[in-house]
Amino acid sequence: MSETLDVAVATAWLRGFAERIAAEKDWLTGLDSAIGDGDHGISMHRGMSAVVEELPDASAADADPPGDLNTLFKRTGMKLVSSVGGASGPLYGTFFLRLAATAGDDKSLDGPRLAAALRAGADGIVARGKAELGEKTMLDALLPAVEALDSALGDGRSLADALDAAAEAAREGREATIPMQATKGRASYLGERSIGHLDPGAASVTLLVEALAAAVAGRS
Ligand code: ADP
Ligand code: MG
Repeated sequence: MSETLDVAVATAWLRGFAERIAAEKDWLTGLDSAIGDGDHGISMHRGMSAVVEELPDASAADADPPGDLNTLFKRTGMKLVSSVGGASGPLYGTFFLRLAATAGDDKSLDGPRLAAALRAGADGIVARGKAELGEKTMLDALLPAVEALDSALGDGRSLADALDAAAEAAREGREATIPMQATKGRASYLGERSIGHLDPGAASVTLLVEALAAAVAGRS
């Protein structure tokens, strides 16, 4: 268990997210087939595979030094922008570029700094995509997760515990997208027919938060 996010934990996070995306690729694509164009699982898998390919191999004796958080997140963001495409590529890319900017020269982030970085990432998605809560997007899972993290840390809970609370909030937020009508992104073209389906971006961003909780808890 770790009380901070350093490069090793951040690397485990990215690997864990890539594994979850790979495992849930067909589910995500199915969700996007119902209210979009059916590419979300495929494109996130392509993007995260490309991100993981660039990560130093932890088992290799001559592994490159893993570098710093800023470089790691910047590379991740740029890779996602260039390889995912669609709406989610630039949105996930912006999220990681904001994380990089917030990390700055820090070698590791403690709970409050990590919460601030995730908040900056979510704000970046808001700035880029102009969506608010309740529009049936990834923000409906991510923003409640960031809120839950802040509040659990404020209650004095450990970072690992607080991230478990964040993951729970993300899952609740994801499920809450089902009755929503999409008013942003491709799903909005369906109007009322978008109601009754889970939003694919809310599903993938929940995997992102779950992977972070697992990496910090040492479960990945
Ligand atoms: P595309 O819709 O271009 O095919 P993806 O299928 O990869 O892109 O991603 C779709 C997801 O992107 C949606 O499920 C939604 O969560 C998210 N999304 C779309 N538009 C926005 C937006 N303006 N703000 C936040 N998230 C958005
Ligand atoms: Mg799509």
